[in-house]
Amino acid sequence: MQKHKFSLFLLTILNFSLLVPVHSFAQPLNGSKKLTHQDTLRGTITPERAWWDVLRYTITVQPDYGNKTIEGFTSIQFRVLKPGRKMQIDLQQPLEIDSIMLWSHEVDSKSAMSKPLTDYVREGNVYHVDLGQTLEKTANPQDEISLEIAYHGKPVEAVRPPWDGGWIWKKDEKGRPWMSVACQGLGASVWYPCKDHQSDEPDSGAVLNVTVPDTLIAVANGRMINKKMNADQTATYTWRVVNPINNYNIVPYIGKYVTWHEDYMGEKGKLDCDYWVLDYNLEKAKQQFTQVPKMLKCMEYWFGPYPFYEDGYKLVESPHLGMEHQSAIAYGNKYRNGYLGKDLSETGWGTKWDFIIIHESAHEWYANNITTKDIADMWVHEGFANYSERLYTECEFGKEAGLDYVTGIRKLIRNDIPIVGIYGVNQEGSGDMYYKGGNLLETIRTIIADDEKFRQILRGLNRDYYHQEVTSADIENYISKKSGFDLSKTFDQYLRTTNIPTLEYYFTADKKDKSKLRLYFRWIDCVKAFNMPVRVNLSKAQQVLINPVQEEWNSILTNLKTPTDPDLLPDIRNSGFYIKWIENRKIVPPGKYIRD
Ligand SMILES: [Zn+2]
Repeated sequence: MQKHKFSLFLLTILNFSLLVPVHSFAQPLNGSKKLTHQDTLRGTITPERAWWDVLRYTITVQPDYGNKTIEGFTSIQFRVLKPGRKMQIDLQQPLEIDSIMLWSHEVDSKSAMSKPLTDYVREGNVYHVDLGQTLEKTANPQDEISLEIAYHGKPVEAVRPPWDGGWIWKKDEKGRPWMSVACQGLGASVWYPCKDHQSDEPDSGAVLNVTVPDTLIAVANGRMINKKMNADQTATYTWRVVNPINNYNIVPYIGKYVTWHEDYMGEKGKLDCDYWVLDYNLEKAKQQFTQVPKMLKCMEYWFGPYPFYEDGYKLVESPHLGMEHQSAIAYGNKYRNGYLGKDLSETGWGTKWDFIIIHESAHEWYANNITTKDIADMWVHEGFANYSERLYTECEFGKEAGLDYVTGIRKLIRNDIPIVGIYGVNQEGSGDMYYKGGNLLETIRTIIADDEKFRQILRGLNRDYYHQEVTSADIENYISKKSGFDLSKTFDQYLRTTNIPTLEYYFTADKKDKSKLRLYFRWIDCVKAFNMPVRVNLSKAQQVLINPVQEEWNSILTNLKTPTDPDLLPDIRNSGFYIKWIENRKIVPPGKYIRD
């Protein structure tokens, strides 16, 4: 996709500071190329994916830092939804499968079976596996069935993560190995075999076993459940997540980590907060991460309880800027406030807090709790995470400060291509999903004009779609229904076009009562039948809701006195709305033209 090329270009020839307006954390596969059959295999629920549902991934991996290779073994436990025999397993080149076993255990018949499979063929980044028998719909939920896959190779290396993806082989400041993975968009199959589609999260979570030299420590999602010292000067760390988790969120972090813990008393009781940072950053980190309890308080207030109390909350220092890895947020903001020290909004508010702590943690609610089935709808992750920055500013510094922030970031909106991407081919839309997404939410909040109702919608989404995969349409319909406003055309306008709707308006003396002002208004530059309501400021104290429609003039009689000087007309612009305002004084309205 163009924006990624653009950001790399900026990185190369200008400097890091210019990254700011174009940041995006995902790497769509073949983004700048023509869409191919490989994209369809990756982005669609193919017949070979549709009949089985992933229950758990158990991933065992050992990286070889010197050779930049990995050796792994992944067990994909699944249940059969309808009879099936062929499975699509994703594993990106140049990694290679060494062997596949089908393993099953039926509780009722007490039968266990383990069978090597030899009938599988590679097609680019997927394997088509023939099980040699048709599996029937899982009868007893206690039955276990899994595919056990051994694999190895040199995974794609992330050169500039998180803007590109793959395995990260870095050194820390003291020259010691520091490894992790960033693979949002690109896909988890860049380092382990899986059903690489956002619509199928493992219902019972994941286990990650990581074997590393015993001088290093491996951290991953959820809780550490075992540490085993091996005879060959390696150690194996086992981490487990019990909640459903996005494939791309499951990652190891390997380095010279130290840790500390704190309890946070939240809406659902005690939340374990654990922090893992490189040894030499401990003091800086302890200072910077004092923002976490404040962040949790604000996010729980607006979004509802933290969605993964069972797995705990973690920040883990990462060799790249950041990523929303569930219950193990990647933190690489160098212990600075803002976005690597910058204020994206240029209002002064953006450097009062740490961008990565706020933005990536907000994804625990929007991205990890509520996940979109298709990355074409990724604005649901990024728009709300962006809005969390406004909300955090509001929690700490008041509502006006929050409004300042969200209007400040408008200048980063490019309106290049629509926010919603292309379905079925793993293709996200415009990077505007961040700033424009946030401003769409501000616009909706301003329409609703009831902060408590708006907050209950944000919390309700996290409650009613708890641990679920959704479409953008689900979210749009929910907001319309709960707000009491039909916002379908509003969403179409902002998510599916690049035009900013323009409210064209003028005042004139009312025909009947010439001492009173009448306000005329209509929408232009918008989708057909666009009908977004707008609150306009008639005076400092008085806001009214008007209902303009596309192309057609409507009016309301105000209680404002017709001024003798047309320059005394009120400025009705309401900064909560991300729209264009045009005061048209050239049109001859039904009444007296006030300018003349
Ligand atoms: Zn994000």
